[in-house]
Amino acid sequence: MTTASQRAKSYLVGDGTGSPSATVFLIRDAGMERPLVVPKDAENLAFLGQSTEIPEDVVLTVEYPVRGAMHAVHRLLGVKKAAPGTCHVYAHPAVAVETLKKAFAA
Ligand SMILES: Cc1cc2nc3c(=O)[nH]c(=O)nc-3n(C[C@H](O)[C@H](O)[C@H](O)COP(=O)(O)OP(=O)(O)OC[C@H]3O[C@@H](n4cnc5c(N)ncnc54)[C@H](O)[C@@H]3O)c2cc1C
Repeated sequence: MTTASQRAKSYLVGDGTGSPSATVFLIRDAGMERPLVVPKDAENLAFLGQSTEIPEDVVLTVEYPVRGAMHAVHRLLGVKKAAPGTCHVYAHPAVAVETLKKAFAA
């Protein structure tokens, strides 16, 4: 069995099995290895982009850094409006079933 670091090396160095810049985000981490968008107690600092930690969110598409930027703007400027939430599909089995049906419909 390969370790996470071996898989990371394979993805990053490139062995023809995938797109490094896409697959690196699929490697399991220990949790909280990336900085929070707005670090605890920060008042004028935020990290943006896909290499930040948004609890309970899943990095893959461009929605993630966009949602992170919204979190940063709302927090730092005191905007009293929640950023769009994360869809917890596992809490809505009917959504998962519909998704599977559509995926295998063609
Ligand atoms: C092959 C592929 C296909 C994708 N397809 C989709 C899709 O269909 N739909 C979708 O929603 N998402 C897709 N994504 C994901 C999407 O591209 C990313 O989620 C999004 O671009 C991340 O935005 P970002 O601003 O966090 O990082 P990036 O877009 O990677 O921007 C980071 C920028 O920082 C620059 N940079 C890095 N280091 C430094 C440095 N030291 N100094 C100065 N500049 C630096 C980089 O050059 C880059 O311009 C895809 C990704 C890949 C790799």
